[in-house]
Amino acid sequence: MSHLGNLEPGNRHDLRVGLSPDAPDESKVRDEADGAFGYVHSYETASRYDGPGVRVVLFVSGCLLRCSYCHNPDTWHLKDGTYVSAQQVLERLGGFANALKSLSGGITISGGEPMVQAAFTKRILAGAKQLGLHTAIETSGYLGPRLDDSYLAALDLVLLDIKSSNPETYRSVTGRELEPTLRFAERLAALGKPTWVRFTLVPGFTDDPANVDGIARFVAPMKNVEWVEVQPFHQLGAFKWKAMKLDYKNVDTPTPTPDLIIRVIEQFRAAGCNVR
Ligand code: SF4
Repeated sequence: MSHLGNLEPGNRHDLRVGLSPDAPDESKVRDEADGAFGYVHSYETASRYDGPGVRVVLFVSGCLLRCSYCHNPDTWHLKDGTYVSAQQVLERLGGFANALKSLSGGITISGGEPMVQAAFTKRILAGAKQLGLHTAIETSGYLGPRLDDSYLAALDLVLLDIKSSNPETYRSVTGRELEPTLRFAERLAALGKPTWVRFTLVPGFTDDPANVDGIARFVAPMKNVEWVEVQPFHQLGAFKWKAMKLDYKNVDTPTPTPDLIIRVIEQFRAAGCNVR
């Protein structure tokens, strides 16, 4: 059993490893736990990029994907996170609640993958709603079947990462199957749940025009999708792969050129998406 640690403010680009060596394997954590405790990487207090307004972003540990361009491989394993209580998180969040409300913001749970610790993140989201805050998660959707409808009811917005429309590309980039993400997107659409789709543009990996078109055509009819956000690949996470002695395949991958970014944005726009 891990021991409670301090909930660390910081930055998604901070490297944090080995903080809870006796944590369970993330692939074995299931919903049955009551969610009173969980593993967290860090939190940021003033993000303008992860939902509307100014937001606290809580980066939780645990992810089952292995994206080749992941900026935060130190969020993959629960053992690298800090073991905290949901109450600790909510007490800290409560201190920011009035400021967040006055700045039209709220809380976004990112990671890692919020659905790995679904009971823990659900408890935090429910607590945030009680504080009157706007709530969001950023997710790949891969573990969508783990979320019951009451979890989705506690969410005002989903930031859904669709990394590819091609099953083979998705598998080669993430190590997992595409299908669960598409089914989760359809579930959100059926519920009318406000969603921002995020697409990471990685030259040589996800920039194929047919790949982009496939996402655009899938998303365009979904009235719940308010925005498609094109996120250019960057190298800010490269040092983490090196420090963790992981095999980083993007050493030579360039950041997208302005022309490439414009081409991709235009593809989404041409399909009828609101894109930025
Ligand atoms: S889903 Fe996110 S946290 Fe998980 S490996 Fe991919 S980029 Fe990293």
